[in-house]
Amino acid sequence: MTALSRAGAAVPDIAFEDRMATVEFRVAPDAHIVVDGDSCRGCTTRACVTACPANLFVPTSDGGILFNYEECFECGTCYMVCNTEGAITWRYPEGGHGVVFHRS
Ligand code: SF4
Ligand code: SF4
Repeated sequence: MTALSRAGAAVPDIAFEDRMATVEFRVAPDAHIVVDGDSCRGCTTRACVTACPANLFVPTSDGGILFNYEECFECGTCYMVCNTEGAITWRYPEGGHGVVFHRS
């Protein structure tokens, strides 16, 4: 059975857990997202911590943020919710790298 995407294209009817089981991360040597820890120290929301679907932002006891780009879904949510200009530098991974969603 298939469903329709917002654009009207047929997409496989697959459970979220099954879809996540097909995810592969082709890790690039250089981070495609860089977080400026100094900018984060004055942050009052820590919105990235709760918004990232991959739980890649971890607050530290000294007010900083630990971040690991390797299992990033490239959704851009962290960049959208961040309240401090310059705290997150975001781009897509270089060619051939990044998240891959297999169809089966
Ligand atoms: S929301 Fe932005 S400034 Fe705040 S902790 Fe996250 S990355 Fe840093
Ligand atoms: S792009 Fe999405 S998955 Fe990647 S770090 Fe930001 S919120 Fe998390």
